[in-house]
Amino acid sequence: MDTGRALARDKFHLQSVEYAAACPACGAAARWVAAHLLWSGRPRWDTEYSCAACGSAAAICGVTPDDALRERLLAANGSTTLRVPASAHRASVMRVLRAVLGLGLAEVREALERALAGRLTGTRPEMEQLARALRRAGVAAETR
Ligand SMILES: [Zn+2]
Repeated sequence: MDTGRALARDKFHLQSVEYAAACPACGAAARWVAAHLLWSGRPRWDTEYSCAACGSAAAICGVTPDDALRERLLAANGSTTLRVPASAHRASVMRVLRAVLGLGLAEVREALERALAGRLTGTRPEMEQLARALRRAGVAAETR
């Protein structure tokens, strides 16, 4: 990995995964790469493919990942854990979790317990988005 790429990975919390899936043009097995990053403070997914069978290739930016793609990325990169100090102001944490994750009241209580127990995990851009929002709300959150 060259230095420029390493810096970009760090700055945007970039994660990527390569996989085989059908070519949209001819249906043969094509090589796909998905990149997941924190862009303007929000998690974003881009994909690109190239097909050896028909020669087509394209980049598709700003896609909505399906569960399979997200699982594939997590399997390739490992999951990231959000750390919230036990002394954190509960209502502030819940407000941020609700706003960022769009959770209902029951779900947000469960997410709060998981965050306090160090069991709230996801992709690095997802957890970094939460940690940043929490720090803006005065909570010393970290990712690991
Ligand atoms: Zn093709």
